[in-house]
Amino acid sequence: MKKRHLKKRVIVLGVIILALILGFIFYPRQSSSTTPKKQTVKVKKQTKKELSYYKKENAQRYQEYQKQHPEYSHEDVITYVNMNLDYDFYGKIIRQDHPNDLDTIVNKYYQLDPSYAPDDLVEINDQATPGSYGYPYRSHLVRKCVYDDFQALRKACQEKGFELYVASGYRSTKWQDEIYNHMANTYNQAKADETCSRPGHSEHTTGLSMDIGLDQYKLDDVIKHPQYQWFVSKLADYGFIIRYPDQKDKLTGYLYESWHLRYLGKDLAKKVTQSKLTYDEYYARHH
Ligand SMILES: [Zn+2]
Repeated sequence: MKKRHLKKRVIVLGVIILALILGFIFYPRQSSSTTPKKQTVKVKKQTKKELSYYKKENAQRYQEYQKQHPEYSHEDVITYVNMNLDYDFYGKIIRQDHPNDLDTIVNKYYQLDPSYAPDDLVEINDQATPGSYGYPYRSHLVRKCVYDDFQALRKACQEKGFELYVASGYRSTKWQDEIYNHMANTYNQAKADETCSRPGHSEHTTGLSMDIGLDQYKLDDVIKHPQYQWFVSKLADYGFIIRYPDQKDKLTGYLYESWHLRYLGKDLAKKVTQSKLTYDEYYARHH
């Protein structure tokens, strides 16, 4: 009798354990199959309301800026406030903590540390003969990562029958300071702000920018070069963009500079070009 009793108990116990195991296996499955459904609904609602570059901390500013500019789309309001356009140029200064990143941004809000200088500058020589194109022969500096793609772009231009050269590359904050102060002293601060960047705010100080010439056409004349449109259409293939496009001065803070190139690397340069946005807008939507 005792043995039978024991057997029964073992069987009952076994059934209970089996039930428990089965319960453990199936219960979480059921619950996990219901929770994601709830989550997807939530996410869908969020994306309808909020853009990927919507920043909660800017909510108040978005509201105020939209009130001031009812003509702007929701998308533009978010972008422009992220760009800090609700402040005047130089009205809000942000220290650029990642000056060495290829996608770094320096503009009338983002400022480089006064002591910043890239540590990988290399000479990029004009292959023009001294004094040609009305320019004295001068060597310019750019960051090493720019060099190969620039030489490849130059070669492509030569194959097309014209010469590309650098008219200005890296400029230190001290140098920019001299340029800016010369303009401010000769004319006034407004005139200086119109024509050049304040020290620490020049993209040339990143070592990723250059002003270029094409044959005898230099700076604001490059646009008159017969191959200029072809040249611009090829830029992204070599990692460059026109940093201050035509009629975008309210966004970039600079009038059209057909001669000022910025190096971003091929991947990013292509993305920015395809987006048809200024780099300031593109940056505000991706950082
Ligand atoms: Zn420039």
